[in-house]
Amino acid sequence: MKIGLIDVDGHNWPSLPLMKISAYHKARGDEVEAWFPMNHYDKVYMSKVFPGSADIDSVIYADEIERGGTGYFYPDGGPPLPEEIEHTFPDYGLYPEAGRAYGFLTRGCPRQCGFCIVGKRRGRSPGKSPIYPSFGMDSGKLSSSIPIF
Ligand code: SF4
Repeated sequence: MKIGLIDVDGHNWPSLPLMKISAYHKARGDEVEAWFPMNHYDKVYMSKVFPGSADIDSVIYADEIERGGTGYFYPDGGPPLPEEIEHTFPDYGLYPEAGRAYGFLTRGCPRQCGFCIVGKRRGRSPGKSPIYPSFGMDSGKLSSSIPIF
């Protein structure tokens, strides 16, 4: 399969979902690349974080298009990634300029800032998140020198 990825409102911040989707498909032998308007794809994934972000206004040549993120599914965030993708080690090759690892230490937030949906979507209790798949290491090897956001 040929897979195209669109980071719709990426602003120099890597998209963790797209990195996981990329790794998932590459592990299955699929061809994965950043979406190019003139190319045809078997499937295109579109990730959008902010509801107010402009969408792609070009024709997308694809047999299937899957959209995800709170930008498309406000305020509940829409369906989560399938378990087999969620727990895939991300493809950091998608963002070679990033230079650091990304992952979640917690999900949810006890505060209720009016503009934010984290508490509504993830709960008001900051529960732990299994970060190790994002870094490809077990808990005994996690280094405190890794930047985590
Ligand atoms: S995550 Fe959202 S609700 Fe929690 S402090 Fe940040 S902006 Fe406020």
